[in-house]
Amino acid sequence: MRVYNFNGGPATLPQEVLEQAAAEFLDWQGTGMSVLENSHRAKEIVKLFEDVSACFKRLLSLDDDWQVLFIQGGATMQFGMLPLNFAADGGPCDYVNTGLWGTKAFKEAKQCGAKARLAASGEDNDFTRIPQTFDFDRQARYIHLTSNNTVRGTQWAAFPKGVPAPLAADMSSDFLSRPLDLSEFGLVYAGAQKNIGPAGLAVVLIRKSFAEKAAPPKTLPTIMNYRVYMESDSMNNTPPVFAVYMAGLVASWVENKIGGLEKMARINQGKAKALYDAIDQSGGFYKGTADPGSRSLMNVTFKLPTEELENAFKSQAAKNNLVGLGGHRSVGGLRASIYNAMPMEGVKALIDFMAEFKRVNG
Ligand SMILES: *Cc1c(COP(=O)(O)O)cnc(C)c1O
Repeated sequence: MRVYNFNGGPATLPQEVLEQAAAEFLDWQGTGMSVLENSHRAKEIVKLFEDVSACFKRLLSLDDDWQVLFIQGGATMQFGMLPLNFAADGGPCDYVNTGLWGTKAFKEAKQCGAKARLAASGEDNDFTRIPQTFDFDRQARYIHLTSNNTVRGTQWAAFPKGVPAPLAADMSSDFLSRPLDLSEFGLVYAGAQKNIGPAGLAVVLIRKSFAEKAAPPKTLPTIMNYRVYMESDSMNNTPPVFAVYMAGLVASWVENKIGGLEKMARINQGKAKALYDAIDQSGGFYKGTADPGSRSLMNVTFKLPTEELENAFKSQAAKNNLVGLGGHRSVGGLRASIYNAMPMEGVKALIDFMAEFKRVNG
């Protein structure tokens, strides 16, 4: 039987998507073979890439200045690719640090030779809040931020406006969870395993006019050059076809089953509100760890009065088919990741369990 999977990532996927993948696993689209066994040069796979890319473009209302790329190496590869392509010549770039992943992205930019500096950091308040004031460098080639902080459970409700350089965002853990106004953005990337599919793939949205400003060093490996992906439609080498196929099934689930990003956002707001209400109305037994104004709709982080209770909570929840509720190993506590694919029934089951656990232990 299937459990409710609250893991931070790899995370739960829509049941309909898994069923469709299973149903067509042995014979995909009448090719007589699995999607895994097809050549990436086969016309069906070329069309698959076009269709998946078109689905992302429709969902996000991207115009022709944007291109969708499929790149291996997850979000972590993007931590390096972005500075290597745009600032490896010692060029200036700004980072807003809102947690563990933002810290890693910032360190990697320096490692890659960029003149990376912090335009704001949530470190002073232990990353419980999204910064509201920024010290942007007018010369910056881009401004990097993390839209949703998977570990701390904070999320940008709105992005900075009127910025002096294009925003480049790690949206790994809230991609396709809400509509996006990308007018200030040059690039967006998302590791797939939180909201859109299998680990190892990153979906990258790149604005062509931003890509033109790339200044990659001559020594940059071909496989790390955005332009190579743009010119080859992400097929310079054998691409992760199965991961792209799965991401495509998830994207069309959002488009056709849910009805688009506005509807997805409304569902996500409803789930998050129900869970935060349960935390806030527990008389202090459950305590949210993020500042209420910066709370994530994807990763709900909270604590219990003691670590013993937290351990008991996790193990008893698992016996009730509610799994993956431990906080990230760097911060402890509890975390319920309620990505797109977590149904309201799963959130309700968790809320019921929380009430019962409090009744017995509170
Ligand atoms: C999970 C995560 C990453 C790391 O993704 P990998 O695919 O493992 O490289 C980076 N950024 C954010 C916001 C994440 O949630």
